[in-house]
Parts: sequence; structure tokens; C-alpha cells
Amino acid sequence: MSQSPGLLGGAALRRCIQASLSGGFSPRGKDANQNRKFIPTKCLQTAFAVLLALAQGTAQTRTPTPIRYTITLTNPTEHFVEVAIAIPPGPAQRELQLPVWNATYQIRDFAEYVLWIRARTPSGAPLPTRKLNKSRWQIDGLSQGGVVEYEVLADQPGPFGAQLNNEHAFFNFAEILMYPADARDVPMSVRFAAVPNGWHIASPLPEEQNELQAPNYDGLVDSPVELSKFQESTFIENGGHYRIVVHAAPDLCDLPRLTDTLRKIVHAETAWMQDRPFQNYLFLFHFPEDRGDGGMEHAYSTAIELSGPSLQSDPGQLASMAAHEFFHLWNVKRIRPQTLAPPDYTKENYTRALWFSEGVTSTVEQYALLQSHLIDEKGFLRNLSDEITVLQNRPAHLTQSAEESSLDTWLEKYPQYRQPGRSISYYNKGFLLGILLDLAIRRASNDEASLQELFQYLNQTYARKEKFFDDSEGIRKAAEVVSGADLSSFFNKYVAGTDEIPYDEFLAWVGLRVVAHEKTISDPGFRAARNFDLAPVVVYVQPNGNAAHAGLVPGDTLLTVDEAPVSRDYEARIAGRPVGEMLHVRVRASNGSERDLTWKLSAGKTLEYEVTEIEYPTLQQLLHRRSWLTAREAKVTHANADGGTGVLARAPFSAPSAKYRQPIHPDPAIERPSAAKGSQP
Ligand SMILES: [Zn+2]
Ligand SMILES: [Zn+2]
Repeated sequence: MSQSPGLLGGAALRRCIQASLSGGFSPRGKDANQNRKFIPTKCLQTAFAVLLALAQGTAQTRTPTPIRYTITLTNPTEHFVEVAIAIPPGPAQRELQLPVWNATYQIRDFAEYVLWIRARTPSGAPLPTRKLNKSRWQIDGLSQGGVVEYEVLADQPGPFGAQLNNEHAFFNFAEILMYPADARDVPMSVRFAAVPNGWHIASPLPEEQNELQAPNYDGLVDSPVELSKFQESTFIENGGHYRIVVHAAPDLCDLPRLTDTLRKIVHAETAWMQDRPFQNYLFLFHFPEDRGDGGMEHAYSTAIELSGPSLQSDPGQLASMAAHEFFHLWNVKRIRPQTLAPPDYTKENYTRALWFSEGVTSTVEQYALLQSHLIDEKGFLRNLSDEITVLQNRPAHLTQSAEESSLDTWLEKYPQYRQPGRSISYYNKGFLLGILLDLAIRRASNDEASLQELFQYLNQTYARKEKFFDDSEGIRKAAEVVSGADLSSFFNKYVAGTDEIPYDEFLAWVGLRVVAHEKTISDPGFRAARNFDLAPVVVYVQPNGNAAHAGLVPGDTLLTVDEAPVSRDYEARIAGRPVGEMLHVRVRASNGSERDLTWKLSAGKTLEYEVTEIEYPTLQQLLHRRSWLTAREAKVTHANADGGTGVLARAPFSAPSAKYRQPIHPDPAIERPSAAKGSQP
């Protein structure tokens, strides 16, 4: 994007330097010497003018004047934040927009928290403001510039929120900063005022004296900021600089161990991608005592929250979230579907590709954990088994496709949408599609290519050229190039369609298969759905069941289960408890009142799927499995990074394992899943 200062001048200067280096433009019948003499002179004049203008900062360079925000941390106790936007001279009438969504694919209407807005001239005379819709305002009389001020209530916790309290300020800027609708692409700066003593600042953006610089609004809102008394550590891995910032009780965080884990993850993923399109990257963590879990990806950072109890009961979650969010710096942030580029902050942005952007990010997360020895092969296959179990136990896997689930992401904030009969998760099915696509590419190419080559191809073809792929269709074409196979049947049946997945036909390549066991579990008698890191809401209570008799009703919010905050895996924990034991929950009714309920767990049945070895695997199958589950040895040859300024690195990078350049041999084997003798569950 055109965000660098003096862009026109810079381009003119570059052209000139090229011209003078190459000895001038084509003579075309003119005297070549004369020509050579003429162009550099003119270029020198141009260059001089450009440099002079840059030095003087005059309007001659057509450098857009930055928009300057000041965020005053007015009242941490009551979560009030004041924002002032300094608008430079320009059009008399301008419109300011506050996004209705950002990054989380849900309409969240951040304007809900705007208390008031006013505008004035630089000398202080009031200017008329007029509301156009719930998230947009029109300001008049700005020809000489002006200041727009407003107050926001910021008390949305977690990596998807914006919060000011006595402990910290954490902001996703899209939730609190309006942008001038006609100047989203100009450079922006954010200064903080009234920062409590002792608080430090952490952001992926360049910062000096509490002021952040962003190339444009998109870059600004892709950069979370934390101000607090945090702990931190840094490390360098293959030339990349990584900063870890942890805001948590000191006893909850083992910083050296966390650093070691993150180093392994970034090593595995940059090696896998043969790429590091940044110089600096920030990991931002919160480990609260009593809240839910979640992670948010950004191009140069991630914000991750994991509750203290989750961290203690399942420390592996932290590595898996970090591996997922870190891989997003490629998949979705740079390898991005066309339908999300550029984002439209005023309404839903529909994409069919979230199964790939989210689900397949989880696939790579698991490969990265395996290759960095943070999980073992058994753990990898157990996770694969669990994901199959989740999909197969949701009746909606026969009615909602992975693409439809991507489109319907905007419904996820409604608890009923999350019912097993209504929707599948594009994370869940997308993860499985990533595994199956990998196996299909491997089979078609006889292990010459894999999901890794697919991502490297997408990175070269799209991300590094600042282009975007055509949703599922773009993935299909890329996968066909790297595998040399016709994958239309795979995409029609399992991505766009709802055919049962014949897992065994894919897993046979690596000598594995799926078996289903019926299992007795503890049934709590209700189902609840969770929206991001919020507390789960009960969506179904079994009629006449123990939960119903205890007084649980749909719409209740689960606050605690067995006297502990509701963990990510609370359903599995309940299912694993002995039948007949008492379950204790604290719930909040839709009217806000809270109550404690206790009832006896009854017996339930479920089908559990397990990925296991076939009876007599061949040596070939075992070799394919080793190839599948072992890191490809490849020297990391990082591209030049861009210094963290918000622009993708453009230097060419070598892809030693770029098998997709080989001639394409369609492989009939790839059609086998589609020609299945009747699909099986
Ligand atoms: Zn914090
Ligand atoms: Zn994700």
C-alpha cells in the first residue's frame, strides 16, 4: 500500500537512478551521448527538488499529512478513555468511521461504547458534528483542520478487547479509534497521555516517548498495545528479534521456559516456510486468574490470554496457541483471501476461505509442535483422533460445508447457531481438511510435495507479491500445481460439499486407519456454546434430565464448573468424570441473578474415533508416514526482512524444496476417495 512518505518523489528518484545507471533511455535515433548527458542532469534536478522538499517537509512532495491521535487514560477506575484526533487542513466536510468489526469476523459495533463526540477548530471554536449512522459521524468546517474529541468506555478484557483499568491498558485500536473515511491510507501516530507512573509500553509499532507510528489505519489496528507493569524477555532466532511481554502475576509465569518454547516454535515455522517476513515480532501474554482463553493474530505480533487454571492443568495449550497465532503471520495476514483484502470495517466481509485461513493454520500448528518436539507422534495422532470425533459427532457435518461454515462465521455470536445440529466449526473441519489435503498431495506426488510446498507456493505467488488468493478456488489451483493432480473432486465433496469423509482412503497412504468405539461417558444433561473467550451460554437442556430438574435453563451463562473457572476443555473433563458423581455449577441467568446448582452426572454414550495403525503396514507406508511426520531437513535461507515497517519483504528467497516446478503428472490415485464404494461415516 502507498504509505511511505514522499512516495511519488521516491518513485521518480528511483526511475532517475535506474535511468542514469543504465546510461539513459533508449536513444531512438537521437544522439546517445546527448541523451545520456541530458537525462542524468534532469534527474539530478528532480532528485534535488525531491530531497529538498522531503527535508523541508513541504506539501510539494504530496506527502499525506499524518493523522495524530492522542489517547488520554482519563479514568482507569471507571475505564474511561478520551481520544483526540488532530485532523490536518483539507476538505471542509469529513466523515469519521468507527469500525463495526475487526479481525474477529463478528459484528461487534464498537460504537456501543462511545459516550459523546465533539469537534473544534485549532483555535477552539466549536464545529458542527452530525451522526450519519450508528458508527459514522460527519464534521463540518474542517478546511483549516481541527480536533475531534470523544470519550469511550473501555472495559472489554482479553486479546479481542479494549480495556483500561488500574492494572493495565490493552487496546485493539479498531475498537476505540475512528478513522477519517477519506484518509485511511495516510500515516498515523498515537500518543498516550496521563499514563500512570511505572507503566511501560509494548507494541509491534515503532515507539518513541509513548508515541507510536503506523503507516496507515490498517497497520495501526493490526497492532495491539499494552501499557502496564509487565515482565519481558527477548531472544534472537535466525536473525529475527523476538520480544515476549507477560502481564500476569509473577508466580504464574516461568519466563525462561516460555522463551525456550517460543524459540522452538519460531524456529520450526520459519524453517517450514523458508521465510521470515519481518525483523521484529512481539508475543504479548496475559495469564489472568479467572478468565477465558484466546489468541489474536497480527502481522507483527500476537496477543494471547490463557487463564491461570488452564495454564496449570494443560501447559501444552500455551505452545499450541502460540504456534497457531505465529503461523497466522503468514496464513491470513499475508497469504490472504481476496475477499478479505482490503477489509471493509463498515460491514460483514464474507469469505469462503476461513476453513483454510483458520483450520489449516491449526494443521500447521500441530506439525510445528511435532517438529519442535513439543508434542510426540502419539500426541499428534491423539489430537487428530479427537478432531475426527468432534466433527463426526456434530450432525451438521452432513448439512453445512466448510465453505458455508466460513460464510456463517458472522452468526457465531448467537449461541443457538453453535448447536451441533446447526453448525460445524471451520477450525475443526479445516484442520482435518489440512491433514487430508496434505496426504492427497503427498500421494499424488509420491511424497515429492506436501502441504509445506503448498504454503511456500502461496507465499511466493501471492504474499510476496502483495497479491491475494481467490478463496477455496485459489487454494485448489495452487494445490493442483504443487501436486500435479486434479483435486476438483476433493474440493467439491469435502470443501464445498458435505460428503462423509472417507478417512481411511486418505490415511492408507501412511498405513493408518480410523476405528470408532462406542464409549460410556458422564453426560451433564446440557450443552453450552462459547463465543471466543466469553463464558459459555447454555443452549440446550435435556428435557426431564438431572440438569433440568436442578433448574438449569437455556440462556444461563456458566460461571464456574466444579468451583473452578470454566476451562477450554470443561466438556471433556465432565465427560471423563465417573458416572453418578455430583456436578456443581454456578450460573448467571439472563436477568443477571446468579445461582449455584448441583446434580448427579448420568451415563451417556458417544462414538469415539481413533486413528490407529492398519494391520499389516507395508514398508512403503511406514516410509510415507515417516516423511509425513518428520521435519524436512532444509537450510533456513531467510529473505531480507523489512525492518518491521509494515511492508512485506520483497527480496527473492530460495525454496530448496520447491517441487512444484517439476512437470505435472496427473495421478489417478487421487481420484480414489471420490470413487469410493459408497461413502462411510
Ligand atoms: Zn495487561
Ligand atoms: Zn486462528
